[in-house]
Amino acid sequence: MGPAQCNQRTRLRVSRFGAASPPVTGGIVNVMMFSDRLQLAMFVLIAALLRSDALVALQQGQRRLTIAVSPEAISPGDVVRIDVSGAPDERITATVFDQNLTFSFDAPHGTWTTLAGVDLETKPGAYRLRVERDGTQVTTHTIRVLAKQFRIRRLRVPDTFVNPTADALDQIARDTQALRDVYARATPQRWAGAFLVPVSGAPTSNFGTRSYYNGRQRSPHAGVDFMSEPGTPIHASNHGTVALAAPLYFTGNTVIIDYGARLFSVFAHLSEFRVQAGEIVTPEAIVGLVGATGRVTGPHLHWSVRLNGARVDPLSLITATRQ
Ligand SMILES: [Zn+2]
Repeated sequence: MGPAQCNQRTRLRVSRFGAASPPVTGGIVNVMMFSDRLQLAMFVLIAALLRSDALVALQQGQRRLTIAVSPEAISPGDVVRIDVSGAPDERITATVFDQNLTFSFDAPHGTWTTLAGVDLETKPGAYRLRVERDGTQVTTHTIRVLAKQFRIRRLRVPDTFVNPTADALDQIARDTQALRDVYARATPQRWAGAFLVPVSGAPTSNFGTRSYYNGRQRSPHAGVDFMSEPGTPIHASNHGTVALAAPLYFTGNTVIIDYGARLFSVFAHLSEFRVQAGEIVTPEAIVGLVGATGRVTGPHLHWSVRLNGARVDPLSLITATRQ
């Protein structure tokens, strides 16, 4: 509704209340003053109501959408949870960070919920979240991404991981294509509820660190490392399908779980596989054991997560799905 319409309606109310006013005559001045004040208060209240979006939405036969975004402070690498309430019977879709988001309905809370990924190299600034109801009505919300300073780490590895041979370059090219094919999968959502920590032991908070191998800068560290004992079982973390279980050049023996809705986990450097590609897994399923295969300085689990193509912090995925 435009401001002109608003004014018109406001004026209508004024005249109606004006006509209903008792004539001011001498004698009971105090009562008259009270009555005038009451009318003024009612006028102010109605004018405020007319301006509110809630009433506009009601007049259009729709309830107002409430959009809640968490966490409060968002940085590169975060998983952002978006909850939309006020439209339980409508189809809700959204876009942000060039990602098309599909929502699932959380019946106990009566809200539509989805996750968006802020890639670890996202520039700080304001990003527009567009929420569509039934593909037409649009509500927008601003998501601010704050700057984040990532630490630098310097590692020493065998030279073949920094200057690969011609044969290794062939394998790296094949691996890159295999990963592209996996991340292009768009399967229905299988995951539900909170993601589990895949291994026992505390993670090293090294997501996003700028990495130098033998003094040469390489892509930033897009996961978290768990310094677990070799042979520690690694769990699938949530419901999904094994999209890949194969030895890759840099990540060694690698398992990728497709949880559906364009959400994937990569478990790297395993000593042994316990699943095969195509298998359906539960959160507790053991996918492999902690090892030291690929480009490593010692045994550990490297866990990384892709969400709608964005490289996000796995620990942020756990937080976002715990609520
Ligand atoms: Zn790692």
